[in-house]
Amino acid sequence: MNRPILFSNVNVFDGSGQALFPGEVRVVGNRIDAVAMGAERIDRTDVDILDGGGRTLMPGMVEAHAHLSWPSSVERVINAMKMPAEEHLLVTAQNARITLDHGFTSAYSAGSLGERFEVALRDMIDAGFMPGPRLRASSLEKGSEGVMGVPEGHDPTHDRDIPGLRTYVKAMAESGVDSIKFLMSSDEGFAPGGAQVLMYTEEEAQAIGQAAREAGVWLACHAQAAEAVKRAVRSGFRCIYHCTYADEEALDMLEAKKHEVFCAPAPGLLYARCHEAQDFGIGQAEAERMGAVAGLELMTKVYPDMKRRGIRVLPGGDYGFPYNPVGRNARDLEIFVQSFGFTPLEALVAVTKLGGELMDMDVGQIKGGMLADILLIDGDPTADVTILQDKTRIPAVMKDGQFHRAPLQNALATSH
Ligand SMILES: [Zn+2]
Repeated sequence: MNRPILFSNVNVFDGSGQALFPGEVRVVGNRIDAVAMGAERIDRTDVDILDGGGRTLMPGMVEAHAHLSWPSSVERVINAMKMPAEEHLLVTAQNARITLDHGFTSAYSAGSLGERFEVALRDMIDAGFMPGPRLRASSLEKGSEGVMGVPEGHDPTHDRDIPGLRTYVKAMAESGVDSIKFLMSSDEGFAPGGAQVLMYTEEEAQAIGQAAREAGVWLACHAQAAEAVKRAVRSGFRCIYHCTYADEEALDMLEAKKHEVFCAPAPGLLYARCHEAQDFGIGQAEAERMGAVAGLELMTKVYPDMKRRGIRVLPGGDYGFPYNPVGRNARDLEIFVQSFGFTPLEALVAVTKLGGELMDMDVGQIKGGMLADILLIDGDPTADVTILQDKTRIPAVMKDGQFHRAPLQNALATSH
């Protein structure tokens, strides 16, 4: 085991929502073992002291809507979604490392393009063989053309009958995924009017829910239409994405289950389509046709209301497209602050503490007993969340008590 590490001379954002406080944090093994506030000092016997130079120390971030197998990243634009499986898996592993590089020590997958990519990757990362975030692995994002949600080969009739759905859920759980992703509704981005097209009947959704409970696996879904959200809530889906057209009744249902359910709007993709995709052939008219303009507008009404109701809303924005690459994930925080009525502190709580609840792991907070997923930030993200988009402002990334990126001690130390 490494010697314990003491982060001294830091301002701590602990994930709870309380303001930054000057303090010290000690890591023993893979866990945080002591946190001191103000003038209090932690015992320095047998520790390596890392002087943070007054920087901010915060929990590693959690990406709530990760698509590590969506190929494009800040390091590499790849125009095809599909590629030969061997290369695709390696690109997925590269994206895991990039996600961690940018301060995301956990990722909750919203769907994979390779059937067992994420199970294999998660296990390699957990074993310490490859760099990447803690991963909640997902099933496929969608199946063959025309039938989304259940891929050919898993549904014997390929027409989404109930026995086929049960078989699919069981097979996915046995493959080792943590979560199965379904498209409860289609999407404007897939076809005009798609957001209102329901992909599963109430009976089918209930069967999926029951099969998942029996198999002990979580359910996540893409849900645009209000009825898709309601169907997901009634069927026991744990993570409900987008919720763009949620009406009062849908919001009431989410609120009634707010201790079980997580929501994530995934605005990053919509924002990119509206403002940053011109060079990729998506101008204003195309952004409108894909529903990005209307979708973002609707979200500015839905998400402040969700926050007011205490529904857990998490950042994470469909990163992995050429114009919305993996590595830009922290941009969601800026959108939460600018458009969804979150204070910077609230956005940070969402990406840390609430993220830890989503992961269902001891992560997302700086407190004794938590796993040591820790970032050192050059600046105060509780005043300006955009700092987190620049990885050069994150001089240290620690995951599970080990530095993924170790700070240069003499670069950190201050003159006083
Ligand atoms: Zn997605």
